[in-house]
Amino acid sequence: MAERLVLVTGAAGFLGSHLCDALLTQGDHVIGVDNLCTGNLENLSHLNNEPRFSFEQADIVQPFDPGRVDFIFNMASPASPVDYMRLGIETLLVGSAGTINTLEIARKYGAGYLHASTSECYGDPLVHPQVESYWGNVNPIGPRSVYDEAKRFSEAAVAAYHRYHGVNTHLVRIFNTYGPRLQPNDGRLISNLMMQALRGDPLTIYGDGSQTRSFCYCSDLIDGIVRLAASEEHDPVNIGNPGEFTILECAREVQSVVGSHSEIIFRPLPQDDPARRQPDITRAQTLLGWSPKVALRDGLERSLEYFTRCVERENARV
Ligand code: UDP
Repeated sequence: MAERLVLVTGAAGFLGSHLCDALLTQGDHVIGVDNLCTGNLENLSHLNNEPRFSFEQADIVQPFDPGRVDFIFNMASPASPVDYMRLGIETLLVGSAGTINTLEIARKYGAGYLHASTSECYGDPLVHPQVESYWGNVNPIGPRSVYDEAKRFSEAAVAAYHRYHGVNTHLVRIFNTYGPRLQPNDGRLISNLMMQALRGDPLTIYGDGSQTRSFCYCSDLIDGIVRLAASEEHDPVNIGNPGEFTILECAREVQSVVGSHSEIIFRPLPQDDPARRQPDITRAQTLLGWSPKVALRDGLERSLEYFTRCVERENARV
């Protein structure tokens, strides 16, 4: 088979960079694009001498033309609640103009297209676990709406380019994912807890910690995305780990993996924080033969070395 040329937007991000690695491993040539508003070039530094990888710092909100490509993975967006609330307008723009611009490239070159959507499309879900046919319970003007509605608009745009222009599109709804290369200061649960536990700081729990999330390890998530991209499926597919934990249970797991005796402190619950989240992965299992392999404890252990290095760096800077 001829070598594929693949465009990855958001390439310097947590998942974007892991995806570049997986594509290069399977033999693809990869062009990574990122405006570095939340991405970090260090996530790609190991590819500096990789001849099949090139990187361009660019903002996909501006129309651009990378030349002929065979496939596009659109991973670009601020993704943690702290980041997308800080970069609200940028988040709205990348999830609207950015998505349309990249869909135009797919249409022009007849490229396949996968868009990184999110469980946030379900909002604070009234259906549990969340199935892809559920339309969601989203506050359109709340603090999370810049992310949720941009991602929902993107899904509409992707579906439209498939419907009107016959683009070979794929939509993955990503549930909470963690692992090495998460930004240590992105304010997310796993990064906060790991950093706090390793520093010996108190672990912050928002609300009473009874809200739930289902955490997928990054290698499982990337495996699911790569399989979806190779499939004929155009409708949304949940990729996530159905193992559901309360936030408090998650904090105890982190304490145990780190060997930390940090106290747990409670802070106010942010507005519109979803009460629960768990993917129904029946579609991913039947359509893609995919299931996650890495349980939470195992994934936290695999992430420990990375977060330990992050804390060591912090200490070296002081
Ligand atoms: N959370 C917490 N302490 C923290 C960070 C997050 O209790 O230091 C909670 C947050 O309120 C939410 C859950 O953990 O209920 C997951 O938050 P995260 O920011 O990781 O992502 P979300 O799933 O909300 O997009």
